[in-house]
Amino acid sequence: MRRKTKMIHGGITGDKETGAVSVPIYQVSTYEQAEAGKHSGFEYSRTGNPTRNALEKVIAELEEGIAGFAFGSGMAAISSVMMLLKAGDHVVFTDDVYGGSYRLMTKVLKQFGLAYSFVDTSDPELVEGAIKENTKALFIETPTNPLLKITDIAKMKEIAEQHHILFIVDNTFATPYYQLPLALGADIVVHSATKYLGGHSDVVAGLVVVNSNELAERLHFIQNSVGAILGPQDSWLLLRGIKTLALRMEAIEMNAAYLVSFLKDHPHVKKVFYPGLPTHPGYEIAKQQTAGFGGMISFDLGTASAAASLLERVKYFTLAESLGAVESLISVPAKMTHASIPRVRRQELGITDGLVRISVGIEDKEDLLEDLANGLQ
Ligand SMILES: *Cc1c(COP(=O)(O)O)cnc(C)c1O
Repeated sequence: MRRKTKMIHGGITGDKETGAVSVPIYQVSTYEQAEAGKHSGFEYSRTGNPTRNALEKVIAELEEGIAGFAFGSGMAAISSVMMLLKAGDHVVFTDDVYGGSYRLMTKVLKQFGLAYSFVDTSDPELVEGAIKENTKALFIETPTNPLLKITDIAKMKEIAEQHHILFIVDNTFATPYYQLPLALGADIVVHSATKYLGGHSDVVAGLVVVNSNELAERLHFIQNSVGAILGPQDSWLLLRGIKTLALRMEAIEMNAAYLVSFLKDHPHVKKVFYPGLPTHPGYEIAKQQTAGFGGMISFDLGTASAAASLLERVKYFTLAESLGAVESLISVPAKMTHASIPRVRRQELGITDGLVRISVGIEDKEDLLEDLANGLQ
């Protein structure tokens, strides 16, 4: 099955009993057993639910992994994955990782004895240098949020393999339509399915796919023990979202390329961050490891007030956190998604007060361009 076909015919489709072409929403907590301890695969919906199961199967196929797991949010998914580690272990992270992942590590997991380093993973030497005797995992995001930095996945796999550490990739930005980290050597892929996979700003969810039966067993044990599962209704919304992922990603990317070519020459724009620009430092690697550059664009307007005045003027870009939806969104990372990162740290990372991030939607590209042009006047 090719990629687009998989999104429609992958995993479990429809309902055998009735012929329904959409997987039913199994709004149920428990299942009748034929005899005590004898059930037909489902016993209790924390452990397994048919709607969630259909979603877990399709994401596993799309990411070319062994098994998928659905959680109540991206952070629930990432937290559950981190529970594969134990007190005393050290983790190397991409430095401009999602703010929530940074907060989880530095404020929550730290209390449980996990140690960490944040490094620029676009430089393999820095990653190599950050590995310690107790390093047990490497967690990267590529492209990153909001600077769209690119990390070489195959290179990271070499390092992870050499040091026998778990290699985890947050694939939220690229989606399995454009990037397949497991095929490039990652052990685990995590997603905030709230973003492109859901795609309609109507569900909060997280997904994980693993590349081995051993990891599948361990993660299922954690999913069932901790219980941060996705409900049947939200699982169904994701199943529906995934069916149009390919169409949405293609439309979004076309719009993004159109806007980038406008922004890069605009006199009020100091710098544009987009991995599809040949001047982007990660361009060559992005071209190799991804089938598309995606729909996230960041650009620096120099000052917080310039950013604020753009936000005030645009009408088709909704001022909101989150990304990856059919509607275009705009945000100022320093004040919104990355506010939980201390200002000094943000400055070090290049997340300036004048940095604006847009998540391009599927509107007419001319309307989006006119809107930005008007806002930037
Ligand atoms: C949004 C996001 C998360 C967190 O996901 P939630 O669904 O909001 O919990 C993690 N990683 C990335 C890259 C994200 O964009």
